[in-house]
Amino acid sequence: MRVAVLSDLHANLEALEAVLEDARARDATAFLVLGDIVGYGADPQAVLDGVRSLPGATLIAGNHDLAAVGRFDVSLFNSVAATAIRWTAGQLDDATRAELGTWEPRATTPEALLVHGSVRDPAAEYIVNETRAAASFAADDFALCFFGHTHLPVLYAQVDGRVAGRMLADDEEIALPEGRTLLNPGSVGQPRDGDPRASYLLFDPEARTARVRRVAYDIAGAQRKIRAAGLPDVLAERLAEGR
Ligand code: ZN
Repeated sequence: MRVAVLSDLHANLEALEAVLEDARARDATAFLVLGDIVGYGADPQAVLDGVRSLPGATLIAGNHDLAAVGRFDVSLFNSVAATAIRWTAGQLDDATRAELGTWEPRATTPEALLVHGSVRDPAAEYIVNETRAAASFAADDFALCFFGHTHLPVLYAQVDGRVAGRMLADDEEIALPEGRTLLNPGSVGQPRDGDPRASYLLFDPEARTARVRRVAYDIAGAQRKIRAAGLPDVLAERLAEGR
C-alpha cells in the first residue's frame, strides 16, 4: 500500500494535477491532505473539488481553509494573504462553504496523526525548529504525525528522548527511525525551499519508508491565472522562485 501525503495546495490546480499524475504512476491508493487547500492561488473551487473526489482520502483544514469560511481570524494574516483569502471566499459554492464549516485542522488515521500546523496548536503554530518539534512530541503520544504549514519538506525524529530534524531531498528513500517521527511533505502549491517544483510525500506503511517527490508543473499557467484574477502579483512571482 502506498499513501500520498499532500499539504499546502493553495488553490494551485496545475501543481495538484501534476502531483496526482505522479502519485498514481507510483500506485498511490490512499491520500492524506493536510490542509491549506485554498488561499493564494487562482483555483480554490477546482482544487477543493479535486481533493474531495480522491478515493480513500482523509482531509483536514488549514488556517487558510478555515479563514475562507470565517473560522480563523484574517487579521492574523499579512495583507497579501488577507487579500487572497477575501477573494477566495467569493469563489466557493454554498455546498463547499458548508462542508468547510465542519472540517477540523486535526484527524487520526490508522497510519498517523494528521495536523496542519502543530500538535499543540493544529491550526496556527509553525514547527520551524527542534524546540517546536519537541513541544509537539510532548503534546500527544503519537508514533507518527504528518504536518504541514511551513511549506518545507522536513523530518523530526525523537529517539531516546532526543529530537533531531533534517530537510528531505527529492526522491531520497527514508526508513522511518525507531522511535517517534514528525514528517512534513512540503507544499504542493507554493514551495518555499528554493525549489519551485511541487512537493509531496509517498509513504509505505508496511515497509515504514517514505520518499519526498518533487514534480515539475505548468508554473506559467498558474501564474497567468493569478494575474488574470487580479490577485497580488507577488503570489505569481514567488511560484517561479519557490520562495
Ligand atoms: Zn500554507
